[in-house]
Formats: sequence, C-alpha cells, structure tokens
Amino acid sequence: MTVLTTTRTAQPLAIHSTLLPHQQDVFDTCMDHADNALDALTYNRAMEIAAKAIEIDLPPSGSLIKCACTDCYCPAIFDPAAPGLRRVEPSGPYNLPRLQCAPCADAHPAPHED
Ligand SMILES: [Zn+2]
Ligand SMILES: [Zn+2]
Repeated sequence: MTVLTTTRTAQPLAIHSTLLPHQQDVFDTCMDHADNALDALTYNRAMEIAAKAIEIDLPPSGSLIKCACTDCYCPAIFDPAAPGLRRVEPSGPYNLPRLQCAPCADAHPAPHED
C-alpha cells in the first residue's frame, strides 16, 4: 500500500526514532566516536559499525549524520554529502559537520551568517 513518489531531495537513509533502542544506542555511540576520532581508521570504523547497527549500507561518502536541526527534534539520518543540506554551525573542533536535512533546511532554515 506504499506509494513511492520521487522527490527532488534525497530521502533520509534511516529515521532515528524508528530504530530499536539498542540500535539507537549503538548509532549514537558510533556518532560520538566518529565525531571525536583522531584518525581516519577510527572514524571509518565507527561509521561502518553505525551503518551495520541500523542495517543500511554506508553511502559513497562513507559517512552518516543525524539532522542537527535546532528547531525540531528531527530524526532523519542521512548522507552528509546529499544535496539540499544546510550548515547549522560553523565547523567546530569536531569531525562531523552540524547539518540540517533538506526538509528542515526548507521548512525552517537555521539562522546563520556567511
Ligand atoms: Zn531534519
Ligand atoms: Zn527541523
């Protein structure tokens, strides 16, 4: 009964709130590890474990990210290289950019200068 429609923006790869609790835990832990990783090996391994935990394939960018929308508790997990994303904060001392997913960027773009 699912109607598939094509949209102009990439669909999220997963929805955090629909994952099982232990999947959410592993994913969140892996995101922390990736965010704070000091080398590519650690980063890549954390991303691989995160993808496996939520039963998806890593996108070609090799990274996953959860929407960092400050306006809603958005559960979208997506490829940080997908089109239509919006940077919420300038890059900090972390590996992962803080990005809003495309629907959030459309619906309520984070204020941001530059
Ligand atoms: Zn979002
Ligand atoms: Zn949002």
